[in-house]
Amino acid sequence: MNIIGFESSCDETGVAIVNTEKGLLAHALHSQIAMHQAYGGVVPELASRDHIRRVLPLTREVLEKSGLTIKDIDAVAYTAGPGLAGALLVGASMAQAFAWTHSLPAIPIHHLEGHLLSPMLAEEVPEFPFVALLVSGGHTQIMRVNGVGQYELLGETLDDAAGEAFDKSAKLMGLPYPGGPALSKLAEKGDPAAYALPRPMMHSPDLDFSFSGLKTAVLTTLRKIEQAGPLGEQDRANLAASAQQAIVDVLGYKVIKAMKKTRLKRLVVAGGVGANSQLRSYLRSEMAKQGGQVFFPPLALCTDNGAMIAHAASERVKAGLVDLNNSAYAFGVRPRWDLAEV
Ligand code: ATP
Ligand code: MG
Ligand code: FE
Repeated sequence: MNIIGFESSCDETGVAIVNTEKGLLAHALHSQIAMHQAYGGVVPELASRDHIRRVLPLTREVLEKSGLTIKDIDAVAYTAGPGLAGALLVGASMAQAFAWTHSLPAIPIHHLEGHLLSPMLAEEVPEFPFVALLVSGGHTQIMRVNGVGQYELLGETLDDAAGEAFDKSAKLMGLPYPGGPALSKLAEKGDPAAYALPRPMMHSPDLDFSFSGLKTAVLTTLRKIEQAGPLGEQDRANLAASAQQAIVDVLGYKVIKAMKKTRLKRLVVAGGVGANSQLRSYLRSEMAKQGGQVFFPPLALCTDNGAMIAHAASERVKAGLVDLNNSAYAFGVRPRWDLAEV
């Protein structure tokens, strides 16, 4: 069964085709990063308009890459949320129109489930159950995953997400949007012990996080450095490395605690911050010490993409969680709807 998936929740338009037996057949992606860069962040209206411009050419591209025609597609998946409403509507409308035209089922997918299952698109596929660290631009969660659709929240951020901590710290330092990759690049030349930044909630008894204080600490440190003299390139690199270390320390410490608490040996990291090389190497070595293993999505599939959406749909279909004969999927309405349920 071939499933085409659409992702348009934020600033990436992604389309992909996954076969339920063979896996990912093709994916195509357009990132709007360059367009939003001038504004220092995502402009929702511009994002929606650009998704409209990109979605058909990308659909043509995946069909060509996979060697399939529209007639070979058996189901349509799309990100139904969470995300920017206008942006989501583009992918949802496209998917529903596609499904309706070809009498196919349309499968709404939760964006975070897409991220969560994306490590299964790598060569080494984790077996259930596992602990998942979901670290993206909008979310930071630790979950126990027992199977497809079986997600138990163990802890989450009480304020900013880890990606936000990267982005906001980077912005304060004058780095371009999105700050995560830029800050991480600058940190390569810096000393992570140069500035003592806080590790909020690191030793709290729960598995929750708090990152909002970090940007304030970065700002205060910046001011202090500038009071002493002009901010040099090495100061900036040192501050970037110190900020990155603070984020990685807290994420790493808490997730290892979750491993011990659950007694599970497999850790899965998903979401954009999962592309961070410092976090990757920290978790690889810590998990090796625990006699466990850590799994990541392929680097290109850490941030938003269509492959993870089509793949999540494929997993849900295989797990029997999707009623493919239910026309409610195709039309977004409920033809059988008891008044008593209202
Ligand atoms: P969500 O999935 O929560 O709705 P999102 O879709 O915007 O949010 P992703 O696309 O998963 O999030 O990830 C984007 C985030 O990942 C940004 O905050 C970005 O700065 C961060 N990021 C990407 N690469 C790196 C990196 N190498 N180091 C640190 N952060 C990174
Ligand atoms: Mg993005
Ligand atoms: Fe995302």
